[in-house]
Amino acid sequence: SISLTSVYKSYGTNAPVIRDVNLQIDNSEFCVFLGPSGCGKSTLLRMVAGLETISSGELKIGGQTMNLVPPSRRKVAMVFQNYALYPHMTVRENLAFGLKQAKKPADYIAQRIQEAARILELEPLLDRKPKALSGGQRQRVAIGRAIVREPGVFLFDEPLSNLDAALRVQTRTEIARLHKAFSQASAIYVTHDQIEAMALADKIVLLHSGKDTEQFGSIAQVGAPLELYHRPRSKFVAGFIGSPK
Ligand code: ATP
Ligand code: MG
Repeated sequence: SISLTSVYKSYGTNAPVIRDVNLQIDNSEFCVFLGPSGCGKSTLLRMVAGLETISSGELKIGGQTMNLVPPSRRKVAMVFQNYALYPHMTVRENLAFGLKQAKKPADYIAQRIQEAARILELEPLLDRKPKALSGGQRQRVAIGRAIVREPGVFLFDEPLSNLDAALRVQTRTEIARLHKAFSQASAIYVTHDQIEAMALADKIVLLHSGKDTEQFGSIAQVGAPLELYHRPRSKFVAGFIGSPK
């Protein structure tokens, strides 16, 4: 599980970009951070990953305070917008890299790779280099690199934004299936696309920005997709989710 309590973030001496976020994400839950460009979705995700410091407030993962724990020691796996594979390594070597760094035994590494390749249908591609893969196949390798580490938390930052429409739907389905396969893991998925959010989320965290955050904090509303749709708390929520109010 993940919990954030009174979390604020300012970059340097600028006004806070995240204000007063209070949030609980349970094991097995698929949570989507949704909101307009610049509202702070990536910032919030990067704080969970440990790639940004938290200005004030507390972050816990699995009940333990994480504020000062470096990224490598958090049990999180992050899939970025611009996935970068090692071009000189094969798919198999790309998948193995993190595990080798962590000094895992060779037979364990082989077994994890086989499992990930099966789930992501990468078996026929294991000996290719990234330049011989399509965009969607590369994306699946990037996801594979995250899942071989058996993380407790999956973090996705707009992982589909480089893909064409058909592949977006296919990969989205893949991510949902993947999350089910890791039944205890929590997932946070960042997008500004409300259709993606409705399709994937157990819980949507809708963020707003600008003046609204000064009064109410960064979170406009948290709830199941249909709850936000049928019972939006404000005009902003109704407008963003697309329901009448
Ligand atoms: P998008 O949907 O466009 O990716 P986002 O919701 O992910 O947007 P963030 O990238 O978290 O938004 O940025 C939130 C705010 O913080 C923006 O106003 C942005 O300009 C600012 N910001 C982000 N990173 C930095 C930084 N390193 N230094 C200063 N300001 C930053
Ligand atoms: Mg972003």
